[in-house]
Amino acid sequence: MAKVTVVGSINMDMVTSTSVFPKQGETVKGESFITMPGGKGANQAVAAARLGAEVNIIGRVGDDPFGKILLDGLVEEGIDVSNVEPVTGCSTGIASIILSDQDNRIIVTSGANDYVTVDFINQFEEVLAGSDIVVLQLEIPLDAVERTLEICNKHKTKVILNPAPAERIPTEVMALATYITPNETEYDMLFQDHSETPDHSLIVTEGKAGVSWHEHGVKKHIAGHRVKAVDTTGAGDTFNGALAASLAKGLDLSQSISYANAAAALSVQTLGAQSGMPTNDQVIQQLE
Ligand code: ADP
Repeated sequence: MAKVTVVGSINMDMVTSTSVFPKQGETVKGESFITMPGGKGANQAVAAARLGAEVNIIGRVGDDPFGKILLDGLVEEGIDVSNVEPVTGCSTGIASIILSDQDNRIIVTSGANDYVTVDFINQFEEVLAGSDIVVLQLEIPLDAVERTLEICNKHKTKVILNPAPAERIPTEVMALATYITPNETEYDMLFQDHSETPDHSLIVTEGKAGVSWHEHGVKKHIAGHRVKAVDTTGAGDTFNGALAASLAKGLDLSQSISYANAAAALSVQTLGAQSGMPTNDQVIQQLE
């Protein structure tokens, strides 16, 4: 079976909907509240698992009730969480989201995700070496991302680096990734002068416009599927999880990008990052 290892964040998203934002010092009445599992690492792990990959996640949660709820949720998706170690006396990563018609405001508290350290990663050299593909994002400390890349390089394990959320990262770190998958905003931030672009490995997601990438020096593009988008949160996470699942199964890069483009299009038709993530059958049907 295709073995995918995700090294990354596990968060609880706490979403309050309101008609008005409170001003400083003001209290307003909210309209509704919901908690939803999130974190780019966890989202990408769920995307890959739903598509049939054997997925394990390396990460950390707090020793609070959210941590337990999130791990139970991952286990229900068939994900191996034996490499997630709770941090004593620390909160689980939280995204506090205030939504209204006009706008949203988000505070992300890393909490236990900050404890994904270099030492923590070093324990998992064998797991990384035995994976068909490893997936990374930037919601854990950058030195842990770099260490994971170094270990994967040593063992010739392929790595997808999803450089999200947008952050400038050193060129030498990016050079260690097999594939780099920014969206357009992240691409502009990472490659401002465009001269450093690592063409061989770059896959740029362009929202509903689709995906652009380079293969054997040739620029390629695939159009997005025409769908009714309800909520595009997590589109990139579905894309990355699906790309990993497909590459791990042994499909080539073009086939895998086409597969991930279809999976991500399916995911935007449902509210919530994880709830709309499709199964393999649904993706195959979308591609027909
Ligand atoms: P992110 O969610 O990280 O900002 P994008 O917006 O680029 O990333 O979306 C990732 C991928 O999801 C796109 O390349 C495309 O395949 C798919 N996608 C996103 N939005 C839509 C949409 N409105 N219609 C169809 N596909 C979409």
